Amino acid sequence: MAEKEQKERKRKPMVGLQPEGDVDWSSYRGVLVVVEQRAGKAKSVSWQLLGQGRRLADKLEAPLMALVIGSNVSHLAREAIYYGADRVFLCDSPELENYRTRPYSRVCLHVIRTYKPEIVLMGATYTGRDLAGAIATHLPTGLTADSTQLDVDDERLLLASRPAFSEKMLATILCKQFKPQMATARAGVFEALPRDESRTGEIIPVPPQMKPEEITTEVLEFLEATGKVNLEDADVIVAGGRGLGGPGAFRLLQDLADELGGVVGASRAAVDLGWIGHDHQIGQTGATVRPKLYFAIGISGAIQHVVGMQNATYIVAINKDPEAPIFKIANYGIVGDLFQIVPAITNAIRQRKAAKDAADPQQPSTPQTV
Ligand SMILES: Cc1cc2nc3c(=O)[nH]c(=O)nc-3n(C[C@H](O)[C@H](O)[C@H](O)COP(=O)(O)OP(=O)(O)OC[C@H]3O[C@@H](n4cnc5c(N)ncnc54)[C@H](O)[C@@H]3O)c2cc1C
Repeated sequence: MAEKEQKERKRKPMVGLQPEGDVDWSSYRGVLVVVEQRAGKAKSVSWQLLGQGRRLADKLEAPLMALVIGSNVSHLAREAIYYGADRVFLCDSPELENYRTRPYSRVCLHVIRTYKPEIVLMGATYTGRDLAGAIATHLPTGLTADSTQLDVDDERLLLASRPAFSEKMLATILCKQFKPQMATARAGVFEALPRDESRTGEIIPVPPQMKPEEITTEVLEFLEATGKVNLEDADVIVAGGRGLGGPGAFRLLQDLADELGGVVGASRAAVDLGWIGHDHQIGQTGATVRPKLYFAIGISGAIQHVVGMQNATYIVAINKDPEAPIFKIANYGIVGDLFQIVPAITNAIRQRKAAKDAADPQQPSTPQTV
């Protein structure tokens, strides 16, 4: 360990809460991931956090636990085991169908106080941010929001790193005084383990901690955001940047994305210019993605963009500048004018599909409307 870091460890915290008296935290063991779901479907970030949680738990030689809350969600408890959990707490009750802060946080607090995990992780989603904040305040403990790296040191301290000071540096935040140590992380930052149905684990039922009549908020209706792009779960992303020259060229990217069953992404430059909405932005201040295939079209490859897409399985870069930094991380690079190359790729895919459909009309390669 670096000398500077050792000194830092010994320094007493200058501000903030102090635990009363000598608290023995040694009974706190293991990593707990709170699984987020909506209508019985888990958010992919939950499985990604179980993947990272497994790595941390193995390093700590401690169990990996998951907490599933909702209504008719027992299948997710099994899924959590397939994705790496040793033990799953399942709170399955009709009044927990929709997320509400108090009933959900009460369940989390009960599980944390009873089973004492040393680390608690959640997705940095709207729900995860709300829930994590409520829990950390009640326990009380520290919470690092929006972590991009999670590790543990030899003192079992969680090293939660996140961009700080206008994203100019990476800060590693430690919670030395309290347990559990809490962090949220964005979707796409960590990799889920392959789903393994042969994995076994323990499922522990947990009762809801509030009676329905004690819950003072009611969800009247749930309106799904329409037209919002789901970059985080996309297998194929066709992203464009300033090189597109204007908003109209995104039509070319949409055509290619449609042929591949993908979605359109963008660099911040294209978003800042007002060519496309912010929900399409990928990078440090946008979404972090992990698709199987990523097209970077007219995007130079600035570090702030690359951190959001470098985990794609395959990266195809199209740029007229052979020196563009994006080529350093691309698996396939095409040097040339995007206005010629993109329609040519789209047409080639269409022709291949048409030829395949003609050869085997029973198995159409494009979805058919019946
Ligand atoms: C704190 C901070 C946070 C940031 N967060 C993000 C973020 O989340 N996401 C993000 O993307 N950026 C982010 N940025 C901005 C980032 O630094 C870059 O400015 C931005 O990514 C550049 O976007 P670009 O690649 O589209 O544009 P440029 O860098 O201008 O690149 C355009 C590229 O298009 C190519 N090109 C031009 N015409 C053609 C053509 N006809 N055919 C083919 N290629 C062509 C050019 O050769 C060039 O390489 C952030 C910056 C800061 C300071």
